[in-house]
Amino acid sequence: MGNLDFPSNKVMVDGDTGMDIYGPGLKNEIGEYNCFLNAIIQSLWHLRRFRDEYFRRSSSGHVHVGEPCVICALSDIFISLSTPSIDTRREAVAPTSLRVALSNLYPDSNFFQEGEMNDASEVLGVIFDCLHQSLPCAPVVRVGSWDCTGLSCIAHSVFGMDIIERMNCDNCGLESRHLNYTTYFRIINASALRTMKVMYPENSFDELLNLVEMNHQLACDPEDRGCGKLNYIHHFLSIQPHVFVTSKLSISF
Ligand SMILES: [Zn+2]
Ligand SMILES: [Zn+2]
Ligand SMILES: [Zn+2]
Repeated sequence: MGNLDFPSNKVMVDGDTGMDIYGPGLKNEIGEYNCFLNAIIQSLWHLRRFRDEYFRRSSSGHVHVGEPCVICALSDIFISLSTPSIDTRREAVAPTSLRVALSNLYPDSNFFQEGEMNDASEVLGVIFDCLHQSLPCAPVVRVGSWDCTGLSCIAHSVFGMDIIERMNCDNCGLESRHLNYTTYFRIINASALRTMKVMYPENSFDELLNLVEMNHQLACDPEDRGCGKLNYIHHFLSIQPHVFVTSKLSISF
């Protein structure tokens, strides 16, 4: 594919010339292994709600994260990507600055080093974390054990899921194992999902996900004066994210 990791995206037709206007695309030379990073940059950039909010927040001042700053590096790439052109030979945008910023966060490892392949979901997690640190609520308000209120932090307001977990014992009636946490990811075992589909072919995708989650049982917490009987954990989504994506990750050993 040469310089372009993705086909250039035709964004509009020029009013004067009638020619197609293209976005510049992202650079991925042989041996750079930028595909995992480019996939994330491109996906974030195409989410209008995220992109608009990102420009608005990062330009009005943010706390720099890392040296060089991850947020500034992503911002520069977004600005280059949002400059459309009728010249399809225009140079693709290099994601190098973001790569360097990310790898400098982990000086003692080869995490995100140039020329190394990494996992796209790990990059996304780190970018979310940097956003959370750089554009905090002002003043930062912590509610219970939630990471943040989720209202003014872009990472949490767009992608975060606030989950409440608890167990109600059907033997002794004790309510235990309370947990409140914010997460961006819900990882489900794909083969468990396939097994569930074979067992319940008529069920919808979300019902199957629920059934897989119901596979796990824990003891009614003896440390909380519980009776020790196995019960299901209930998960409640208290705040829904604006964006939720399902994806399949293959790992071979
Ligand atoms: Zn910065
Ligand atoms: Zn946050
Ligand atoms: Zn019990």
